Amino acid sequence: MTQHVVVIGAGIVGACSALEALRRGFQVTILDPGEPGGEQSASYGNGTWLSPMSVIPPSTPGLWRKVPAWLADPLGPLAVRWSYLPRALPWLARYLWAGWTEAKVLRTARALRPLLVDSPALYAELAAAAGVPGLIRRQGLMYVYPDRAAFEAEALAWRVRAAVGVEWQEIPAEEMRQREPELDPRYRFGVLVGEGGNCRDPGGMVAALVALAKAEGALHVAQRATGLRIVAGRLAAVTTDGGEILADRAVIAAGAHSKALAAAAGDHVPLETERGYHALLKGVEIGPRIPLMPSDGKMSVSMTEAGLRCAGQVEIAGLEAAPNWQRAEILRDWLLAAFPNLPRELPADQVKVWMGHRPSMPDGLPCLGFASGTPDVIHAFGHGHVGLVAGPRTGRIVGALLAGEEPEIPIAAFDPRRFA
Ligand SMILES: Cc1cc2nc3c(=O)[nH]c(=O)nc-3n(C[C@H](O)[C@H](O)[C@H](O)COP(=O)(O)OP(=O)(O)OC[C@H]3O[C@@H](n4cnc5c(N)ncnc54)[C@H](O)[C@@H]3O)c2cc1C
Repeated sequence: MTQHVVVIGAGIVGACSALEALRRGFQVTILDPGEPGGEQSASYGNGTWLSPMSVIPPSTPGLWRKVPAWLADPLGPLAVRWSYLPRALPWLARYLWAGWTEAKVLRTARALRPLLVDSPALYAELAAAAGVPGLIRRQGLMYVYPDRAAFEAEALAWRVRAAVGVEWQEIPAEEMRQREPELDPRYRFGVLVGEGGNCRDPGGMVAALVALAKAEGALHVAQRATGLRIVAGRLAAVTTDGGEILADRAVIAAGAHSKALAAAAGDHVPLETERGYHALLKGVEIGPRIPLMPSDGKMSVSMTEAGLRCAGQVEIAGLEAAPNWQRAEILRDWLLAAFPNLPRELPADQVKVWMGHRPSMPDGLPCLGFASGTPDVIHAFGHGHVGLVAGPRTGRIVGALLAGEEPEIPIAAFDPRRFA
């Protein structure tokens, strides 16, 4: 008999998982109270980067020295709200420890690389199937620096990237001017990673993938999962705020909101939200030709379907606290500084700001694998800074696990029990 799988969450991970489940003959229900790819999801407002080279965990050796600044400067690129510090402390300690040595960083990079490596190609296939091929661009991604010394200050990250097979091209000042004529000339050195790509509307991409899943027979139920009914080690139903949905299998892909559901499936995971922001200048045409990241702003700048988007910032303040829109204004100001020809006085309705929740594990690796409480539930959350780029391969792994197949890449490092 056809098995029924409930995919909890319609962000990029849920959308890709649902499609892979359909391909393996499952009956699929996608459960999400919000619109697929809507503003409530991290998948909506991220930096758009399909960056197979994003293998460096957020924490790297010596980061502990910056802890006082995180607490002192509420508007710094990484900030921890004082009121949330007691709750965040255990996560922060694990986060710092995960990047304590170069060997640890390299281990993380080795685990992540196969999850990301061919993401732009996988996206191109998905976008074509979903009828939105124009959303995926494969022209590379560029890191820009004031000078070579600033690049060399990041030597550890680039050393580790090289060790896992990332290749890049150095771009001197003159060539940078030709490639990116609108970029402020103070950026005199660039690193172009040709394998990178971007998605011009990540929320629209998720919506298109869910529409494709629906066309292939999936159902979207606009309810919130509240728990799981597990009887004698087997899943009986997913409980929701609108009643129960009988299910043979479930995939927990609720992003930063997955913690309680994971606990219901028997796993207590240190999942935290790294809140991030974007500022969007609607309808402007001035900007980079390919997405780039100015090293001093620690933000991604990409042209999207809706306009010029600048995304970044990390704020540790939990799921409930109100956004601090000053952080998005900082991003907007960086944007104006990086592209001096942008109009200074845009009307308020042309500037849009957004805050979203990266679903982050302390070690920068997702939780991907069977739940402890029942083999019928699969964890697929915790992708932190790389959930967009990791989405398609994650979906394929979920599909394999559902079907009892060997996943196509090693997933031991993503074991949801690794912190137990
Ligand atoms: C500022 C910023 C920039 C980023 N830049 C990039 C980037 O350039 N490249 C990259 O790869 N990644 C980036 N990321 C990270 C990436 O966006 C996330 O890792 C990814 O979107 C997570 O996808 P997800 O499907 O796991 O979760 P989400 O997209 O958050 O989706 C989870 C869904 O679950 C639903 N949900 C929650 N609770 C329940 C429940 N109880 N029942 C049912 N449904 C529920 C929510 O409504 C939501 O729709 C960025 C993130 C941020 C915030």
